[in-house]
Amino acid sequence: MLEVENIETYYGKSQALFGVSLDIREREVVALLGRNGMGKTTTIRSIMGLTPACRGDIRFHGRPIRTQPSYRVARYGIGMVPEGRQIFPTLSVRENLIATAGNGSRWTLGAVYDLFPDLRGREQHYGNQLSGGEQQMLAIGRALMTHPQLLLLDEATEGLAPKVRRQIWRSLAVLKQQGLSILVVDKNVDALARVCDRFYVIEKGRVVWQGTPAQFQANPAIRVDYLGI
Ligand code: ATP
Repeated sequence: MLEVENIETYYGKSQALFGVSLDIREREVVALLGRNGMGKTTTIRSIMGLTPACRGDIRFHGRPIRTQPSYRVARYGIGMVPEGRQIFPTLSVRENLIATAGNGSRWTLGAVYDLFPDLRGREQHYGNQLSGGEQQMLAIGRALMTHPQLLLLDEATEGLAPKVRRQIWRSLAVLKQQGLSILVVDKNVDALARVCDRFYVIEKGRVVWQGTPAQFQANPAIRVDYLGI
């Protein structure tokens, strides 16, 4: 579904990615792991066209997208939940969801509220009146309203209370069961292992390891060398 081949991405003159390659198949949930500043967010932003890669290839269903603007990448079927959520603070929950709604029948307001019942009761509240957990649910709901086939999720549960984290992980399991492909960044390896099919580990802008969660768990040296845990 998604093929990322040897991409290199810069912020001005400063190179952040030095040849990242990864792929995501239909219905797969894949995690991108790595310490702070190793290039996870930049990889997601490069796929989405927000910080375009200047070398390498990115293909979605075989179509080259590396140089496409992000609105077009979204239209092709890639949705993104950015780090820090970035919901619209002065729009209501309902307005936030409608603002990004794309053409398609799968995701309606009702379907998002079924996935996140907490949002239903908060429908008329403004973005800045929501808790961090509600904001993250809204950010995921907003991305779903674009009817993605692939969801990119940066820092899925960062800064959230344990109960809310569990809700987010449960929602990802539901989305996986429904056939959505997901690329997720998070620090909670055990929760990732429960929902993911494969892991990629990124270090200084390069993929240094890939395998199944079971292979990862069976190899403690990877945790120590690349995640510092
Ligand atoms: P974190 O978990 O801290 O978000 P990350 O793995 O997502 O880390 P990136 O945010 O992709 O890492 O950062 C990769 C590199 O690019 C780092 O060296 C970082 O300092 C640099 N970088 C990130 N954003 C910018 C920016 N806006 N301008 C310049 N350099 C940046």
